[in-house]
Amino acid sequence: MVMLQRDESEQGVYQAARNCGHCAQCGRGLKPEEPVWREVFQFYRKRMTLGGMPFTVAPVCKRCHLEYDGWAPAKPCEKCQRMVVNLRRFNRVHTFCSRLCEVRYYSHRRKKAPAQQMCGECGEVFKPTRSDSLYCSNACRQRSYRKRAKKSV
Ligand SMILES: [Zn+2]
Ligand SMILES: [Zn+2]
Ligand SMILES: [Zn+2]
Repeated sequence: MVMLQRDESEQGVYQAARNCGHCAQCGRGLKPEEPVWREVFQFYRKRMTLGGMPFTVAPVCKRCHLEYDGWAPAKPCEKCQRMVVNLRRFNRVHTFCSRLCEVRYYSHRRKKAPAQQMCGECGEVFKPTRSDSLYCSNACRQRSYRKRAKKSV
């Protein structure tokens, strides 16, 4: 059986892991629709000197990927839809081709606060500055507060 580990020391491997712009093995540029296999690259020397990660997972192209029975079925990257084959042992709930896609995916989700909201007092549609704001202005918030205070008397 093939040992699925490659000992590379190129900066290109990190670059490929970051944005999936090229194959980490042959350096060929990858088209958006090309599938990638995410292989493990080891960096023994860098681990000693920089205290970095002992390995990195980087994408390689169809031509370069190793035949291995530990590959999971291909899944689309949840950000860019590129087909991605991960090692079964690295298989997670979410699939991404690169770190950039992962970061973009999560930052997009976090920003999903409502773009518009209706004021709970005057009914005016406004842009909330905070995700928990209920009123268009301080005046409306105070008016609403006073109404409620009156009712409870
Ligand atoms: Zn390649
Ligand atoms: Zn992607
Ligand atoms: Zn209002």
